[in-house]
Order: sequence, then C-alpha cells, then structure tokens
Amino acid sequence: MSKILVAEDDETVSFALVEALESASHTVEAVESGREAQERLRLYQYDLAIIDWGLPQVSGPEICKAFRDSGGSMPILMLTARSKEKEKMEGLDAGADDYLTKPFSLGELLARVRALLRRPGNFVSPALQVRDLLLDANLCKVFRDKQEIALLPQEYALLEFFMRNKNVVFDVNGILDRVWSSESEASEFAVRQCLMRLRKKIDLPGEDSIIKTIKGIGYVLEDKV
Ligand code: CA
Repeated sequence: MSKILVAEDDETVSFALVEALESASHTVEAVESGREAQERLRLYQYDLAIIDWGLPQVSGPEICKAFRDSGGSMPILMLTARSKEKEKMEGLDAGADDYLTKPFSLGELLARVRALLRRPGNFVSPALQVRDLLLDANLCKVFRDKQEIALLPQEYALLEFFMRNKNVVFDVNGILDRVWSSESEASEFAVRQCLMRLRKKIDLPGEDSIIKTIKGIGYVLEDKV
C-alpha cells in the first residue's frame, strides 16, 4: 500500500487512474493542474507521482525538474501523448523515472507502478516481520504469533507504516501526514483513535503494547523488546 499523487487534467483518464490504483490498495490523491501538483509535492510525502506531460499552468516536465532540483527522490511516472517521441525524451531529461504513452492499458500502468515502487531505495518487500508480528503485503494480511488478525484498512495502513519504519519514532502529526490522505479531514484525534484500535487488535493480553509510546514525543514499533 503506497501513497500516490496523480496529476492529470483529463477527467476520464484521471478517474480511471484513481480507480485502478485504489483497487490495488493504494492511497491516491488526484489534482488537475500543475500548480496544485507542485503545492502537494511541496507539502506532503508520496511514494510515487504520476504526472501528465501537458498540464495547465505548470507542465509535467517543469514540475519534474523543479522537484528534482529541490532534492526530491520519489519515483515519477510521466504520461505522454502517443507518437510524441520528443515529449518522452523531455520528460526523462527533466527527471521522470519512466513514461507511459497514452492510450495505455490499466494493466500496464499497474505493472509500471509496481516496478517503480520496487526500485532500489524504494524496495517494497511483500513480507514484513517485527518480532512475532507478520504482515503479508501481497495478501494484505496480518498475523501475530501465526494467528491472523482482521484489521480495517486504515488500521492496516498504520501498522504497515510502523513496520516499514521500525525503530523510528514518529509524532502524531508525522503519522497523519504520511499515512492519511492529505484530502481527508482526519485530525490527530483520528490517528490516536486508530492507534488505540490497532493496539487492541494486535497486542497480547497482559503484555506491553508492541507499539511503544515515547512520552511527549510519539510512537515507535521496536524490533527488540
Ligand atoms: Ca493533459
């Protein structure tokens, strides 16, 4: 499950992209203009951006170039028009990692997305383990001590985030930015509620929570007891 930004001004294409990515369990945010895309990239963290070459206000390659110039390393997939070899080259020169020529099949799109998310440095391992807690990202299933635990999507996303960033302390606001959609109305309260529900489900009775509270700072999932 990754957080993906889609910047595409063609409503039909955008809708199809969002639907396909969401059905693959990603959290997706869609914007229609280049300016909005830049704003989002400046304020929030994404695992991947899919950016159309021709966007109003600021073009895809301009967004790409500015993002790379500011040190951004997240993978970018650029959408280009058919038979415009020049666009493809310009996009790659500007710092896109891959391109997809319109019209494309959603199957191909999802394959490219998987490949980009799997890139070294962005390696997405299908199975995560911290102590006796196991998360299988292919099946979207969680096990503690070999017992399967049923989680709601947001609880699952929160746990996956902690497991991918084990031993790192995050404050509530940091968790909100990274795990919740920027468009959601969620607040720090929602994060705490979700965390409370998650702990109830994954913790063993009579034991300290596997997600530790660091008083006045935040939360951490530690590898060692
Ligand atoms: Ca366009």
